[in-house]
Amino acid sequence: MFTLHTLEIKYLQGVGPQRATLLEKDLQVRTVHDFLYYFPYKYIDRSRIYYISEIDGAMPYIQLRGEILSFESIGEGRSRRLIGHFADETGVIDLVWFQGIKFVEGKLKVRKKYVVFGKPSPYGGRFNIAHPEVDDADQLTLSKMGLMPYYNTSDRMKRQGLNSATIQRLQTNLQTQFLKQPLPETLPAYLIKAHNLMSLPEALRCIHFPENSEQLRRAEYRLKFEELFYIQLHLLHYSQERKQKFAGLFFPKVGDIFYTFFREWLPFLLTDAQKRVVKEIRNDMRSGRQMNRLLQGDVGSGKTMVALLSMLIALDNGFQACLMAPTEILAHQHFETIQKLLEHLPVRVELLMGSIKGKRRAKILDGLRFGEIHILIGTHAVLEDPVLFAHLGMVVIDEQHRFGVAQRARLWQKSAQLPHVLVMTATPIPRTLAMTVYGDLDVSILDELPPGRKPIQTLHRWTNQRISLNAFIRKELQLGHQIYMVYPLIKESEKIDLANLETGYQQALGDFPEYLISKVHGKMKSADKEAQMQRFVTGEAQIMVATTVIEVGVNVPNASVMVIENADRFGLSQLHQLRGRVGRGAEQSYCILVTDYKLAEDTKKRLDIMVRTCDGFEIAEADLKLRGPGDLEGTQQSGIAFDLKIANIVRDGQLLQHVRDIARDLILADPETKNPANLILWQQLAQLRKEHINWSVIS
Ligand code: ADP
Ligand code: MG
Repeated sequence: MFTLHTLEIKYLQGVGPQRATLLEKDLQVRTVHDFLYYFPYKYIDRSRIYYISEIDGAMPYIQLRGEILSFESIGEGRSRRLIGHFADETGVIDLVWFQGIKFVEGKLKVRKKYVVFGKPSPYGGRFNIAHPEVDDADQLTLSKMGLMPYYNTSDRMKRQGLNSATIQRLQTNLQTQFLKQPLPETLPAYLIKAHNLMSLPEALRCIHFPENSEQLRRAEYRLKFEELFYIQLHLLHYSQERKQKFAGLFFPKVGDIFYTFFREWLPFLLTDAQKRVVKEIRNDMRSGRQMNRLLQGDVGSGKTMVALLSMLIALDNGFQACLMAPTEILAHQHFETIQKLLEHLPVRVELLMGSIKGKRRAKILDGLRFGEIHILIGTHAVLEDPVLFAHLGMVVIDEQHRFGVAQRARLWQKSAQLPHVLVMTATPIPRTLAMTVYGDLDVSILDELPPGRKPIQTLHRWTNQRISLNAFIRKELQLGHQIYMVYPLIKESEKIDLANLETGYQQALGDFPEYLISKVHGKMKSADKEAQMQRFVTGEAQIMVATTVIEVGVNVPNASVMVIENADRFGLSQLHQLRGRVGRGAEQSYCILVTDYKLAEDTKKRLDIMVRTCDGFEIAEADLKLRGPGDLEGTQQSGIAFDLKIANIVRDGQLLQHVRDIARDLILADPETKNPANLILWQQLAQLRKEHINWSVIS
């Protein structure tokens, strides 16, 4: 029956060439199969008649059966309304029309039985239904009702009579014309049985013609299950193929370097989450397969230490390691931290970035080539330059979302023997989306903050509250704490933004004359940036006025206040990242979002979320809901999230996890794809890979 895949939609009864063109242009429906998979976006329950006495505030569309007792006309001219007092055995409700009044008056009769359909809303202590659909009660039999599907169509289609009702009729035609023979299954029988799924033909019928909500729920579940399952099967199978192709470095031992550091120089106890993740990494490294792991951990959860410990394992096995950061400031900071931590160990750590040139650079390159440098820390310059390692065994990419997929892919080309790869990110991507975008990666999660952290208090303040805000900042400064003041900087308005930053800086100089103030923005020379940053890190400067260059990763535990100016101009994940710069020590920290009064609805929502929660996962989910998957950083490369026909990455997160586990078990149980019961799966997967070009761009 795969012919439906190739059968053009114009051959469906009731379509023809003209409508076919519209369907293809506006709905991307080219074949009969596409049309079958064009699902309703909502259903309205017409399977039951309600009593007026049952109506309460929270009801969606409902229908009532009764009669109109009388009409009443209120107001004049354009503000005229028509009210029909509608009653059943249990009460009275008002039907209201603002338009088409003449038509309604001409058509509807008093004391005749009608079924009315609409959404009740409270009004003046009672309920009314505005512009209800009204049908003759005699002509509408209950058996014909049920759940009514609604299909999205474009305005242009509606003008041509291709509205939701027409689509529904065409779906009926499709069933009678092409589906007398049921479609072949696309999932193996044992999966259908084990997970109590509806069969494919039944699901495809019920999704268009559900008789009741239970049936619809099961149809949706089956189709979502299948959709997400095949994406996961694709990703996991692909990653398994890659593992087979590239043998991984075998790091059997944990040795002197790791243990000496762990026993004698570890500055704190690891959190349980850190221990668990280090163990997961350790297991990967001695599995003989190349590690490809994504470490997700909220800001401040201690990813750097996990990275360091993993690199030490590589060193213990005689290999070099490399840590990449997205900005020079961050690379520099990692370098300082790690060098300090390892100062008593026989480990040579070096820093390499674009701004390091000449002799210094040449020396580092030599050191790498001859294996004298053990840990290299740098920006992506590390990837782009002709940097050669004697034996690179481990690469850590910090703040992966700042790098593109392409940059990670460049690693694959760097050496024949692939290093283990750990990519780290502070959850700007919800877990469920990560499973799709980085679906070929194994995921570790740091879901615990180091002990003693007080949750950051987040406040929203208006620009005209500056005086009290300054008083608050001064109090914090007097306690010996440090302050960030951050300004937006985007390319399109760069000049104005830089001017704002400068004004803010001057203002801070005036407001806090007795304190030293650093200033950092991306347009500064690297060395100046560094010097300014350094002054703040050492505590010499107490205030840092900056753009978002300090957004990722920077760690100054003594900083207790993050003031974000024009907070409305930042996205949620950025705000969260910025906030993560404080609350890194034991002191109570604050994040203050400063905006003008006038704010868009969406912006208000964003700021409210920030005030309400510090949980990065929750923020990421909220962000996804507000913006949709397409806008999230790091996801643009993947079209998968948009390709979904029925599943929803946000709402169906649990199902996604579930089917991922199933797909993984299946691959484990049938690694050579030899089980005849699974034949249908691999065929279907091959077919889907052909259809979805997007599937090849991930990872
Ligand atoms: P992120 O996950 O945001 O990269 P960092 O690695 O920068 O976080 O760690 C944030 C701060 O927490 C650092 O000052 C670090 O030294 C500290 N830290 C990390 N792990 C622990 C721990 N287990 N106990 C106490 N402090 C820790
Ligand atoms: Mg970090």
